Amino acid sequence: MPISKNSLTLAEKRYYELMRFIFKIIFMNRREWIKNTSLVSGAIILSDLMFDGCSEHKDATWLVAARNGTFMDFVCLDDAAGNELVTNAIDWINSYVRQQTNREIAVHSAKKKLVAFYVGFGEEARKNLTDFQINDDPGSQGFVLKQVNIDGKKAMCCWSPTELGCRYGLIEFLRSLKTMDGDVVSDILHVVDAPRFPFRIHYVNSAEHLQNAYNPNFLFDVTDNRWNLDDWERYIDMISAYRYNYFEFWLPPSLFGRNNEKLSAEFVQTINHVIAYAKRRGVSVHPLVTINTFVAPDGEWSYACPNDPDEKKRILDGWDFWTKSIQGNDSWCIFPGDPGGCFRNGCTKETYIDLALELSTVIRKNNPKASVEVGTWGEPIFGWGIPCPPWWTRDSKLVGRSMEYLIRKLPEFPQGTFVSINREFSPDADSDIQSWAVGGGDGRPYARKAAELVPVLTWDFGVPEGENSVMPRCRVRRMIETRKKEQEVGCYSGGIIFTMAPQLQCLSAFCGGETWWNPDRNPEEILDDYGRWTFGESNEKIGRLLEEFEVIPDWGFVPPFPYSADRLRDSMNNLLHELGQLDVKHLPRLPLSADYASHVKALDYFATLFRDLAELSLQVDALNSAYQKTSLAGETKEKVSLADVQRILTAKPDFNGRGDLEAAAKKLADFDVKGMKTRYWNTVYGIYDHIPTPPEERKPHIIENVFDRRFHASLAEPTINH
Ligand SMILES: [Zn+2]
Repeated sequence: MPISKNSLTLAEKRYYELMRFIFKIIFMNRREWIKNTSLVSGAIILSDLMFDGCSEHKDATWLVAARNGTFMDFVCLDDAAGNELVTNAIDWINSYVRQQTNREIAVHSAKKKLVAFYVGFGEEARKNLTDFQINDDPGSQGFVLKQVNIDGKKAMCCWSPTELGCRYGLIEFLRSLKTMDGDVVSDILHVVDAPRFPFRIHYVNSAEHLQNAYNPNFLFDVTDNRWNLDDWERYIDMISAYRYNYFEFWLPPSLFGRNNEKLSAEFVQTINHVIAYAKRRGVSVHPLVTINTFVAPDGEWSYACPNDPDEKKRILDGWDFWTKSIQGNDSWCIFPGDPGGCFRNGCTKETYIDLALELSTVIRKNNPKASVEVGTWGEPIFGWGIPCPPWWTRDSKLVGRSMEYLIRKLPEFPQGTFVSINREFSPDADSDIQSWAVGGGDGRPYARKAAELVPVLTWDFGVPEGENSVMPRCRVRRMIETRKKEQEVGCYSGGIIFTMAPQLQCLSAFCGGETWWNPDRNPEEILDDYGRWTFGESNEKIGRLLEEFEVIPDWGFVPPFPYSADRLRDSMNNLLHELGQLDVKHLPRLPLSADYASHVKALDYFATLFRDLAELSLQVDALNSAYQKTSLAGETKEKVSLADVQRILTAKPDFNGRGDLEAAAKKLADFDVKGMKTRYWNTVYGIYDHIPTPPEERKPHIIENVFDRRFHASLAEPTINH
């Protein structure tokens, strides 16, 4: 049944068309936003690219939940009615409306003659929306949101060529909602939008050495950090709301080697559930397997050689088992190593590529539709043909030879193959970030060549967090800068946002999703949106306060702002105040991977820790300043510790400035540094009390990272009881 002919007035149509024309000329891409503040005044604001502060509108044009219980009904056209990608997004909209108004949206599966919000995908639905005049082509993951007038009342539609794009359109609508005077409103008039990067991967590594309270434990038969299916579903909901379309996970070598049949069987059951669930949320599950790495039950790591027939069989059997056991996923990532690879029996980097090609047929045999990602991690191709360490040799001939070979071989890989080539063959996007892994040189020429054959992604996992210590992360500025550099190369189709703490790093996941979708967004707006959509509309300031955690010089760290202990202490006090005002029964508008109350509690813990550490480091400075004013200054090393001062005070009963120094020492002794360290370890890494220590001893390194690199907390550890 047609919707009313009476949509926009002719003058409005001409005005919009003119604006769209100008806009297209300026930006020459598919992204197009047209928002207005008031249909009555006809005032139009064009594009969030051109204007900051669209969210500042005082008068919105579209009422979802109007006064006196009048509601805008939703109508799902054709296939949209039974499609969970669509209906689930409408459920999320409804959940927000319900929380704000105590009322429900009515959803119809068939057209009735009513002024409504029409939702549909595909050409049939477009035909049914003739009165909305959808002439835009948003691309396969893009969408059109459009508002028109019908008999003087506002009607709206969300359309995409695909169900996934339709879901993203509804999520965009959910993002646009505001509650004003008890009404839920949106200011969208006409939005055409699509992701800049088609592959947007959220990547979780839960290996032995990355166990923590916020990472799923599926490797150890202890109760710590075992995620139940609700945890997994909540995590998938979050990344799908953040518009990732891939969940990548590391299948650790010990699991790959089936050291514990019970755990392997449990994991297969769990991940197959996750795969099926994720599909219903528009997320494709992408297992990453190191091509030839095994861990024996005694913990010994080994790298099977494809040039040794028995060891080759082991590799093929492992891949056959897992690609048969894991069901329903659309793709597999073949990863060279780290650790892994082989240089025995004449193995070279080319051997890896040949082996990957052979394994792609094993993968296709067990799942004919699966596609394959060929990872080139390392300088590139980690561990193959060279003893490891050294990992990064910077041998440009070796790099060129192996990458040229890969590019020659790519056409032999099955349809749908894609490849990951880091921009600088470095773990951190920019090779000057890490001194120990300087990178293998310039990956861009190879990325461009490979992109003529298959989609090329990056695998720069140190950009969002790296593998060191766990604390709340926010590297939104660095993500934006990295995405822009990738856009400059002109051939990247996407990449990963890594985390080892998926139930803590919700903000980092959000920022990653935003920057893959549109790296031209302003970081402050992204942070404000996160605050608003997670903690509630009046709490947008929390987003920016969470960035204040980003102060520890750690793996992949680039300072987002100049650090000072005063700034950190004040920010953390503000954050604690804001967190203290929250209603923990609140439902975040966009789902979180963690239970909301637990997440707020975790943030509160870290904010308290960081405030105390900032205060502690100020007192360390005060102690040193008092010491410098004494007559002893210069007698000991540059920075004195509390223990040094306590020794001096015991040994020397009288010297100039003793009183002030003693007072400063007393203040510093109030901090229970050992207690802080113990509490941090138990809160985050308690699982290591119940499982074997990982191959490398991480505790001292992690503690040093969190407590000493920035805050010099060890200088506040007393040796004398006060
Ligand atoms: Zn070998």
